This record gives sequence, structure tokens and C-alpha cells, in this order.
Amino acid sequence: MAISDDALARYDLDALDRRLRDIEGGEVDDSIPELAAADPGLFGIATVTADGQIRSAGDSRIPFSLQSAVKPFVYALALMDRGDEVLDAVGTEPTGQAFDAIVFESETGRPPNAMVNAGALLTASLVDGSDPEERTARILSGLSRIAGRDLEIDQDVAGSERLLGDRNRALGYLMRSAGTLHVEVDDAIAVYARACSVLVDAEVLAIMGATLAFGGRNPVTGDQAISPEVVTETLSVMATCGMYDGSGRWLRRVGLPAKSGVAGGLVAAAPGRLGIGVYSPPLDEEGNSVRGVLACEQLADDLGLHIFG
Ligand code: GLU
Repeated sequence: MAISDDALARYDLDALDRRLRDIEGGEVDDSIPELAAADPGLFGIATVTADGQIRSAGDSRIPFSLQSAVKPFVYALALMDRGDEVLDAVGTEPTGQAFDAIVFESETGRPPNAMVNAGALLTASLVDGSDPEERTARILSGLSRIAGRDLEIDQDVAGSERLLGDRNRALGYLMRSAGTLHVEVDDAIAVYARACSVLVDAEVLAIMGATLAFGGRNPVTGDQAISPEVVTETLSVMATCGMYDGSGRWLRRVGLPAKSGVAGGLVAAAPGRLGIGVYSPPLDEEGNSVRGVLACEQLADDLGLHIFG
């Protein structure tokens, strides 16, 4: 049974931080040097409620790159820009495989969903813009509205993502050969890499999660940053695909639409209740933040947030 807004407001995030901060386990991602350099001891939690109150604990203001936590938001922007064209271009089915699996729908050649790399590469190429710079600008301005503040791209991270993105490039060429990707592969990689490199902190991520939780309206700024119907599409795919090959366990155990990223970010939305942002670099074998998952499990248990009650 979901508890009152007052109980949400009184929840002791500092106690949760103390309870989980010293938990070991997991590995910091080493796919690019900038991620490998992260301090494994960092742990920040933040929540945002309907009244726009931001509550946080620990390292909640330490910046990190969104990585795959950007994917639901890019998906939302593409849906707002291109509507059904996006639903025709990318599937909505979970794969049960890793984020960078080379998996496409056998009949259509489409990527299975927008939360895996192939799908995100495609949706990043479908936002408004006639070239990579315009599409990057569109994504950055859209993310900034969702966050309620001007976000920036970590150019070093973006450079490494492009330089070391051979697998993503391969996914791009497979989509070009299937006729599903209609921009040059390098252009798609450029936009996708910059989107993954947008800097946030746990508080900003919680605001972005809250914008999804409250029907697209940013509860801090009051701005309707995402249309309600696109929020429904986005939360649905997050719920089934957001935590990769751990999505089934996540939905059973936590019961919230969420999306993780290999920098250690994790965003979750409790529809009508709360936005959650967590950051801790050590990742489990599915690429999800170890402390981030435990924090969301505890919040869902303590606050009765599971969408199935
Ligand atoms: N930029 C990373 C990639 O494309 C994101 C992976 C993730 O956060 O799951 O592989």
C-alpha cells in the first residue's frame, strides 16, 4: 500500500546512505578511460516529490555521464518529434540479453527496443535536425527542459565513446544494411556518443525521473517537458527493458520503470509518487549499479512504491 506524501517527505535518505554506503561488490566500468577512473566508493541518492522538493544524501552532487540512462529521454524526444515513425522503426520488446547485444527482429530487421544500444543509436538519429550538430542540440535542449537546468556534454567522454565505439559502429552498419538506419553510421555514432556523455548528478537524475513520474511535467519548474502520451510509451519500455537482462528480476523486486547506465547512474520513476536518482560506479554483472539497485529496492519496500502494490 503506497504511503502518504508526508511520509515520502520524512523518509530518512541519510540513514539509507549509511546503510548501503559500505556495501562492496561490483566493478567500475572500464569501457573508456574516463569511466574507469571513477571512485568506487562514491554513492549518492536523491528523490523528488510532486511538490518539487529535492531530497538527497551522500555524493548526490558529484557529476557523472548519463550513458544509457539517457536512452529513455532520447526515446521520448524522438517520439515527440517523429511520433509513429519511431514506433515503426524500433520495437518495444525486451531481449533478455546485454545492452550491446547484436539482436534485431528477424522479420523486420528492427532493433528490439530503444533501451539497447542498437535502438538508442536509431532513436538518436530520429530526433529533429538535419545534421549531427542540429540533432545533438535538439537532444541537449530537450534533456535540459526535462531536467530544468542547462546540461552540458563531457567532450572527453564523448570523444572516447566515439573512438572506442567499434561495436556500436558495427550495430550501425548492420542497421544501414537492413535499411533501418537512414543517416551515415558515423553521424549516428556522433549524436549517440554525445547523448551518452551528457553530465548530470543524482539530484538532476531524480528531477528527470520525476518529470516522467508526473506525466511529463517537471515538478521543480512546472514545465510540461514531455507530452503525457509520450511519457506512457517511455515508462512502458523502461519497465520491461530498462535494466537489460536483469529487467525481469528488477520489475518483480522493485516494480518501477527504471534505466541504468554504465557510469553508475540509475533513474527510476514511481508514477504519481516520486522520481529517484542514484549514482554509484560499481556495476553488477548486468551493468547495473550495485548500490543503486539496493537503494531502489529499499525505497520501494519502505515507501510501498511497487507499481503492482
Ligand atoms: N555508451 C555506452 C555504450 O554505448 C552505454 C552503455 C550503458 O550505459 O549501458 O555502450
